[in-house]
This record gives sequence, structure tokens and C-alpha cells, in this order.
Amino acid sequence: MMIKRIFRSMLLVSAIVLALGFAMTMGILYQYFGGELKQQMKKEAEYLAAGVEIQGIDYLNKISGDQGRITLINNDGEILFDNTADKSQMENHKDREEFIEAVEKGTGDAERVSKTLSEKTVYYAVRLSDGQVLRVSDTQYTVLALISGLIQPLCYVILAMLVLAGIFAFKLSKKIVGPINQLDLENPAENKAYDEIAPLLTKINSQQHEIRKQLSEAKRQQEEFSIITENMQEGLLVIDLHTVVLSWNSSALKILGAEENPGKESIFALNRSEKFRRAVETALSGRHATAELELNGRNCQVISNPVLRNGHVQGAVILVVDITEKMQRENLRREFTANVSHELKTPLTSISGFAEIIQDGYVKPEDVKRFAGNIFRESQRLITLVGDIIKISQMDEGSVPYEKENTDIYQVVKDVFASLQGAADASGVHLYLEGGHLKYTTVKPVLTEIIYNLCDNGIKYNIQGGSVTVTIRPGEENNIEMTIADTGVGIQKEEQQRVFERFYRVDKSHSKEIGGTGLGLSIVKHGAAYLGIKLKLDSTPGQGTMVTLSLPGELKNK
Ligand code: ADP
Repeated sequence: MMIKRIFRSMLLVSAIVLALGFAMTMGILYQYFGGELKQQMKKEAEYLAAGVEIQGIDYLNKISGDQGRITLINNDGEILFDNTADKSQMENHKDREEFIEAVEKGTGDAERVSKTLSEKTVYYAVRLSDGQVLRVSDTQYTVLALISGLIQPLCYVILAMLVLAGIFAFKLSKKIVGPINQLDLENPAENKAYDEIAPLLTKINSQQHEIRKQLSEAKRQQEEFSIITENMQEGLLVIDLHTVVLSWNSSALKILGAEENPGKESIFALNRSEKFRRAVETALSGRHATAELELNGRNCQVISNPVLRNGHVQGAVILVVDITEKMQRENLRREFTANVSHELKTPLTSISGFAEIIQDGYVKPEDVKRFAGNIFRESQRLITLVGDIIKISQMDEGSVPYEKENTDIYQVVKDVFASLQGAADASGVHLYLEGGHLKYTTVKPVLTEIIYNLCDNGIKYNIQGGSVTVTIRPGEENNIEMTIADTGVGIQKEEQQRVFERFYRVDKSHSKEIGGTGLGLSIVKHGAAYLGIKLKLDSTPGQGTMVTLSLPGELKNK
């Protein structure tokens, strides 16, 4: 573009210079030829005048007429002689310019353009001594005629010069533009092309600096944004008005089960369900929407919000949250509540039944004691049950109302044994404690509860003459390891996981008979999770059960 412009202006200048030069040359040439002609005519006139002075008009008659026109005029302007025309046909010449001038000054000249314009007539007049005037005239080509005569050769010359000018202009413009084309705009300050463009380069330099600064700022913000969104567990998607995904984080893809980069696709490529579509479309119509979807067996919630600018919807932000665990927890709680109601209802129904019979007077006085015993047993069950429910709820919510304290584990087990001794004696089960006094910082009531429940089960599901052995020893990772082993009935392999569920009992009627609530191992599981204790259950039906507890943290003092 630039080369073209420079080339064109150069060519134009050359053409103008050429034309002017040409015109001036023509002018000079014309002047020169004109002068020559005049000089010649002057000489001729002088010769002729000298001849006429000596021989009179006869002299003129003698010379041939091919040397141009010769006219002799008397002092009144009448034609005495003319070698090219009939003198009687010619008008009086006294008002002709050259005649008047010659009469006055001795010589005179004039020139007149003829009708054709291509030639003009030049006159030169001399006054003779007797007052007559001798005039010679000749024609000279005008400039136009000169040009038309020279036109062809001139055209060749002009053409050749134009071609040359063109070549030079092209080469020159390339040479001028070359350094500009080679400018290193990445480092504008380091160019040394032309001083004239230095301010421009400085400007580019400072602008480039500014652009780089803004770019790095934008990049930093982008990185910040992606760090934030990438660390979000919630899926985040930003779409435009045409549902094309503009931004996304990997959680979104994970939750929606999409594997690849969504690129510039519609968000509907990620999920085609009707509910999802409706939530997205509602947001794009300017309103907030939520939807719950089931994806590959997981539940997720979609929250979509419109993005407004100047009151117009520009797109939408869509948040996808995996709520599977939340729903599972809710289901568990619902189930638990239902179970609790059921578990509470059974003893209450018995209590109410016994009380009603007594009230109606159907019970003989000697049986009242037995009935009261039943009522007492059932209320005890209720109290235990409510106590267990409270414990579970507390640990579930993480709101255990106790502090950590330095605890002697050995002493804890001894205390548990003391409170279970009666039950153990009644079942004919021996209790053994092995290991030493290891101190450990923990929430003592929770740990006690765990050990109590495990030992209680060891006694309950044992055989006459069996035993429960608790061992305390330093673990492999310099922590404390504890085992509670019994020689009881054991648990079938397929039941081993389920026994930790709330209200789960292997043998419901037997458990009830011996005062189980189905919550014991559930409390153990929750308590262990609360204290960070690892639990392991090994059991062989008919041989016994062993539960291993790995207490976390380093053992400080022995
Ligand atoms: P429960 O109050 O019925 O004892 P748990 O949650 O403590 O409830 O135990 C759940 C079930 O696991 C019990 O009903 C019992 O069948 C079984 N179980 C628990 N501990 C033992 C054990 N040491 N030996 C055999 N079976 C056990």
C-alpha cells in the first residue's frame, strides 16, 4: 500500500517534471529558431535594400522569387512591387505595424499568426533613402506545428523516460519502505530505521508495555478465577444467551459425567434431560431456577441464575452440586427417626398394656409384683434406648459435651469391667485385662462408651464359661492398640458389615431378650469416627469375635 503510494507520487512528479522540461525545451527551441529567422531576414533585407538603392525596382524584378516574399512599399503605403502576389489586388500597407515602425525608426518588424494557426508570418522592413520601404517576410512554424512534427519521436522518448522513471520510482519506493517493513515491532525501541519515525516507535513501545501489563493483569485474574473454580467441589458453568458454554470447571464435568472439554458447544450436550433444559431455559428467560437430577446413580442439584447487564439477560451461571451424600444422610435420618419411633413404641405399648390390666383389676394381688416387674424392665429398656439415641445423636452432630483429657486406658477398662461384673457373673463369663497403664489424651466418656459397648456385647453374645479378654499394647506406629476378644457365638461373614448399622440385630428376639437395642455397635462406630479410631472386626461363628481398635496419635508417656 505504502509502496504503491510512494511509487505513484514519484511517477507523477517525474511525469510533471518531464512535461515541464519538454515544454521549456520547446519554448527555448522556438525562441532560438525565431531569432535565427529574424537575423536571416534582416541580412536579406539589407542586401536587397542595397541593391534597390543602386538599381531601383529593376533589381527586384531580376531576382527569383523563391527566397521568400519581397514587397516594396512607397511612403504612402502603396505597393510598388511584390514577388508573390498581384500588386493591384493588394490593399494599402500604410497602417501595417512594420511599415509604420520602419518609416519612423528606419527598420521595423512584426509577426502575425495566419488563420491555420500552424504557421505565422514574420515581417522585417527597412526604409530606403528615398523614403520607400522594402519589406521581406517569411513564414515560421508555430509551437503547435513544431510539436506536431516532432510528436512521434517525442512520444518514444517520453515513453522511454516514463518507463525509466517507473523503474526508478519502484526501486526507490521499495528502498524507502524496506526498513519500515523490517521494523521489529516486538522491540520497537531497538529499531534504528528512520529518525522521523522514532516518536511513533516510542509510542508503540509504551503502548506495548501498557498492553503487556494489562494482559498479565488479565491473565492473573483469569488464573485466580480458575484456581478458585477448580478448587470448588460444586460444578460451575457459565453460558451465553445461545447456551454455548463460555467457562466451566472440572467439577462440573465430573458431576455431569462429561468426559471431554465441552469446547464451544451448547450446554445441552452435557446433559439432555428435560429438567436440566428447563432450569437453563428459565435462567435465560431471566429467572432463578433449581432442579434435581439423577445422574449415574448419584443425585445432583442444578441451580441456575441469569446474568444481567443493563437489565438484559446476557447468559446464565449454572451451579451443579452433588447432593448424593446429603440425600443419603437425610434418608438415614428419616429411617432412624422411623426406627426410633418403632423401637420406642414397642416397650411403651407393653407398659401401657400391663398398666391397663392392673387398672382394670384383672390381676390377682399375688401377680401384681410380676406385672410391676415387667413394667419396670420395659421402662429400663426405654431409658437405655433413649440414652443410646442421645449418645448417637450427639456424636452424629459432633456436639459431644466433653473435653479431651489425659486418660489412663487401663483404668478405663477396669472401670468398665467393674460395671459389667454383675452381668458377666450372671452369664458365667470371665473378664480378663492384659497390658499396662498407658496414658492417652482423649475424650474419656466417648472412649469409655466404646469399650463398654464392645465388652457388653462380648458378654451378651457369649457362652456359659466363656471369656472376654481386653488387651492394651503399643501399636506399630507407636500408638495404642486395643483388642476386645470373646469366645462367644461369633458373627457370620455376611453380617459383619451390617452389625454396625443402627437397630440392626442378627437375631432380633435373642437380642431383645438380653436387653439389646441394636444401637450398641452403631455407637461404637460413631464414637470411633469421632475420636479418629480405626476399627477392625474379626469373627468366626462358633469360635468368637475380636474387635481391634487403633487409637490415633503418638504414645507420649507410659
Ligand atoms: P445389640 O444392642 O443388639 O447388641 P449391637 O449394635 O451392639 O446391638 O449389635 C448388633 C448385632 O451384632 C447384635 O444383635 C448381635 O447379633 C451382633 N453382635 C454384636 N457383637 C457381637 C459379638 N461380640 N459376638 C457375636 N455377635 C455380636
